[in-house]
Amino acid sequence: MKKVDILIVGQGIAGTVLAYQAMKRNLSVHVIDKPLPGYSTLVAGGIINPVTGRRLVKSWNFDLFYESSMRTYHELDEFLNIHSLHSLPIYKLLKTTEDVNDWELKRVEPEYQDYMKNPIFKLDERITTHQGAGILTRSAWIDTRLLLSSFRNLLKKNDQLTEDEFDYCELKKNKYKDIEFDKIIFCEGHRIDNNPFFEGIHLWSTKGEVLTIKIEGEDFDYIINKMIYIIPLSNGKYKVGATLDREINTEITEKGKNDLVEKINSILKVPYKIIEQETGIRPNVRDRKPLLGVSTIGDNYFLLNGLGSKGISLAPYFAKHLLEFIYNNQPLQQDINWQRVFKEKNRKAAQ
Ligand SMILES: Cc1cc2nc3c(=O)[nH]c(=O)nc-3n(C[C@H](O)[C@H](O)[C@H](O)COP(=O)(O)OP(=O)(O)OC[C@H]3O[C@@H](n4cnc5c(N)ncnc54)[C@H](O)[C@@H]3O)c2cc1C
Repeated sequence: MKKVDILIVGQGIAGTVLAYQAMKRNLSVHVIDKPLPGYSTLVAGGIINPVTGRRLVKSWNFDLFYESSMRTYHELDEFLNIHSLHSLPIYKLLKTTEDVNDWELKRVEPEYQDYMKNPIFKLDERITTHQGAGILTRSAWIDTRLLLSSFRNLLKKNDQLTEDEFDYCELKKNKYKDIEFDKIIFCEGHRIDNNPFFEGIHLWSTKGEVLTIKIEGEDFDYIINKMIYIIPLSNGKYKVGATLDREINTEITEKGKNDLVEKINSILKVPYKIIEQETGIRPNVRDRKPLLGVSTIGDNYFLLNGLGSKGISLAPYFAKHLLEFIYNNQPLQQDINWQRVFKEKNRKAAQ
């Protein structure tokens, strides 16, 4: 029988960052993961974006999450000897003079000054007519495919990975099949709905489709944003996404492709080739906050989930927060305690 401090279920960004941070604390770790349809991290754009949406709103607690993300991804790159963290500006295309005015007004607000730069009015000739682009800094994208596969290889090499679907019926107190653990932490993304140890969680997941395209010519050295993101991967390849759909299935669709193509055509005037289409499911929560904490059934069963559409910037901070809650007696932030969902369900049932 193998004995570990922590057994982790799921190796998306939550499971990966958590396993790494646990290792840093000299805790022994074993991970169980099977890439199941709808997994999110491998499909994600991987963008860390300080200001989002048409109304240019700064992301929740961004400064805190940005610092923790940059530190963690930088460390992971060194640890794995890879280059998955790419600090790149985002060029937010401004179509009308009104868009330019909105940018200028927001840019001077004190909490936006570090993120929003003066717009530029001369764009790459491959981009269709726009007034210009507002530049967002302190942004980045993570090559999630490279990061997850490199970490997975390390786990395999050290005999710390079981590539199998976790069977909840086989979990007995602190034993799972031939593994004995002190704590188990579930990081299954949108599949948390099937987990009997965190009853009452009903995610508000959204499906997203992405394309990988190839554009001839020199690579753009920034991320383009106008309704969609066009992210330079390397060698003329770009990830483009994403759609947002409340109908949950894991099929790629013509509608998804056409939707993205229409948006690409409103941005690029040069030809491009579609190489790949993929789909993933974001583990969203109605109040847009993560789900962390301890099970009501077993006091050594924990959860790190609900990372929604911003998992890449949220995972490092909340993985650390969960470990501090478990091992350092730090109180759990109540706005992210998963039991808020459980209590809400019981309150409604009692009415
Ligand atoms: C199209 C799209 C684009 C996105 N773009 C961005 C972006 O640019 N920036 C950003 O921050 N976020 C983005 N997101 C959101 C981000 O991907 C998620 O927040 C994050 O990846 C969730 O990570 P996770 O580890 O919780 O789940 P997942 O990545 O889904 O990982 C869960 C893992 O657990 C495995 N698993 C589940 N159940 C079991 C089981 N019973 N047994 C074994 N294995 C199991 C799954 O197969 C998977 O490997 C995007 C999402 C989508 C869909």
